[in-house]
Amino acid sequence: MARPLVAQIDLAALAANLARARAFAPGSQVLAVVKADAYGHGLMRVLPALAAADGFALIELDNAVRLRERGERRPILLLEGFFEATELDTFAHHALGCVVHSLEQVEMLERARPMPALDVYLKINTGMNRLGVAPNEARAIAARLERAPAVGSLRLMTHFARADEEDGIEQALARFEAACAGLPYPRSLANSAGVVRFGDIGGDVVRPGIMLYGATPFARRSAQSLGLAPVMTLRSKLIGVQTLAAGDIVGYGATFVATQPMRIGVVACGYADGYPRHAPNGTPILVDGARVATAGRVSMDMITVDLSSLPDARVGSDVVLWGEGLPIDDVAHAAGTVGYELMCAVAPRVPFVVQGQEDRSCTSS
Ligand SMILES: *Cc1c(COP(=O)(O)O)cnc(C)c1O
Repeated sequence: MARPLVAQIDLAALAANLARARAFAPGSQVLAVVKADAYGHGLMRVLPALAAADGFALIELDNAVRLRERGERRPILLLEGFFEATELDTFAHHALGCVVHSLEQVEMLERARPMPALDVYLKINTGMNRLGVAPNEARAIAARLERAPAVGSLRLMTHFARADEEDGIEQALARFEAACAGLPYPRSLANSAGVVRFGDIGGDVVRPGIMLYGATPFARRSAQSLGLAPVMTLRSKLIGVQTLAAGDIVGYGATFVATQPMRIGVVACGYADGYPRHAPNGTPILVDGARVATAGRVSMDMITVDLSSLPDARVGSDVVLWGEGLPIDDVAHAAGTVGYELMCAVAPRVPFVVQGQEDRSCTSS
């Protein structure tokens, strides 16, 4: 038997989540955000499930070019734009859209003559204070971009810092509206949280990411309550069982001590597979479909679980680390992180299988 750990990908769930995003923002074009290799799912692997997307948004120029080389004709937006002027010919050659967020980029564009001219999204900083031009400069910069021969079309965008919070976008939205008042360009505002909460103000182009993969962008609203289904299920099996007496310890550092006789299951999955090492004792995990808890420190290749409530569990019992039956958000919450980080962190050594195409040979990205 091969090492039993696999990341199983449910393309039907991804297609359904995309439809869900579209239903939240019916008037908008949907750019599926596929940065970080589709949030760790494998961009080329999941592409067939994104047939209904209007386009794509990502960070990595090499993956954008790969999409074009595979014949992809829909719009592709690079969310950090270009980093140096030498990349502009690649943008033009492959008709890649480009976020412009800094004066440095504006100046590079003014000096460049890419052919054909580029689709540009001018990003305005509405309070995140990460990327984006100042709201009071947006009008003048839009005018400069309008004049630049390198710019073929112009849109205005922003990214909300707190779209997942109750009063999270009012101030940012007001800044955006003030900065853009009267400008005739299409707009792009909403990420997943924005799509769910403010589909109507998401703009002409929305940019859902995490919701497509079936995790929640919110701290207090589950993916299930939003009608989203998990796309990735990280599955393994028990490869060992230990019987402990009271006082026995488990794992490095003895962070778990048995208070009574008990059994411990050993799962083939560790931090070298992308499971978070900081997941504490008590992190939820499924064994034979039942929700139990980790016990002991996560090591490089293994996790140990408390089998007290599962007298029938044995070597070979099925384990779900996250996904079907155990929301990735629950594991992330226990480990003090977010579903985004866990799905992006699945390590290259973990084999992926596409549900319904279990033959591993045809599932590499
Ligand atoms: C990553 C990203 C998104 C998608 O955000 P989610 O929270 O995953 O929906 C949208 N817009 C920009 C600019 C991003 O960088």
